[in-house]
Amino acid sequence: MAARTTGSSAGRRTRAGTTRKLTPKRVPARKPAAKSARRAAATRVPAHVAERSAPPRERTDTARDFFPDRLTLPRLREAAAGCRACPLWRTGTQTVFGEGPRGADVMFVGEQPGDKEDLAGHPFVGPSGQLLDSALEDAGIDRGGVYVTNAVKHFKWERGEKGKRRIHKTPNTSEVRACHPWLEGEIALVRPRVIVCLGATAAQALLGKQFRVTQSRGRAIAPPEGADALARVDAVFATVHPSSVLRAPDPRTRERAEREFRADLKKVAGYLKKG
Ligand code: SF4
Repeated sequence: MAARTTGSSAGRRTRAGTTRKLTPKRVPARKPAAKSARRAAATRVPAHVAERSAPPRERTDTARDFFPDRLTLPRLREAAAGCRACPLWRTGTQTVFGEGPRGADVMFVGEQPGDKEDLAGHPFVGPSGQLLDSALEDAGIDRGGVYVTNAVKHFKWERGEKGKRRIHKTPNTSEVRACHPWLEGEIALVRPRVIVCLGATAAQALLGKQFRVTQSRGRAIAPPEGADALARVDAVFATVHPSSVLRAPDPRTRERAEREFRADLKKVAGYLKKG
């Protein structure tokens, strides 16, 4: 194993007691101004690309730094459109903020916008949204009366093997954390009685990393102690994300997954009816 060095000056003394001479670092010679100017001109990008690659503000790691002075849903939505708190603003076409009435009884929280939502700029308008709409109708929950949003507001994706399709990629912990203030803001302003987490990313963002959807789905869960964002919420439910139902490997599995998903939403409807 190489000996670690301590001390500085002309040489460094190693843990083994010998002195090793330090080699001075090479400082590259500065290039002539004319050459660097030519290089800058050659690498200049079109204005619309420059706009996306030169953020108005640097990354800060928390969406909180992009909050408006006064908190209202429209102002929050407007501010989120310029968020640069994590690298996903570069991969998504636009910020997809939540939608629905302020004062909605129930808020559905998914993971992130999908391909269709990313292009449309609205949450739950793709195939997953259609399944959610159908399950809500089945459960007797008015779709127009619920607020729908995501734990992460930009679409994270990678190119499929054939190079055309954009394949969903799960956001990592730091991206979920950076985006969390937008979700907290939505919860504080909408003030739902009940929050339904669709999938593990949303559930863990609100209920903690240890939460397992498979173990606790379809049950009314009291907001955990110290979860400030959930202080005014009566109960949190968790179920799977509708996209996981659509991705089931065969028709039988899909049928069962869809039946269970619909059953979970009926339990939410039952809780809401109890008042
Ligand atoms: S994903 Fe969230 S935190 Fe990251 S840039 Fe988009 S809005 Fe901001």
